[in-house]
Amino acid sequence: MRIKLDEDLCMGYANCVVQAPDLFDIDEETDKAVVLVTAPSSEQLPAAKAAVQACPAMALRLEY
Ligand code: SF4
Repeated sequence: MRIKLDEDLCMGYANCVVQAPDLFDIDEETDKAVVLVTAPSSEQLPAAKAAVQACPAMALRLEY
């Protein structure tokens, strides 16, 4: 499973970072999210799902 970020949709709200700080960060230059771990482990999966659901811009999705 991989985390996909659509940078065109990302508005830099950082909800993903709040939900999963190990998986996401905000690029201070672009003000957009950066995916730190593109292929999360099974332990990281709940946080990844929470981040996807928390993104108001629908910029994140999980690809199976
Ligand atoms: S929550 Fe969505 S819009 Fe906000 S920084 Fe993360 S990916 Fe971007």
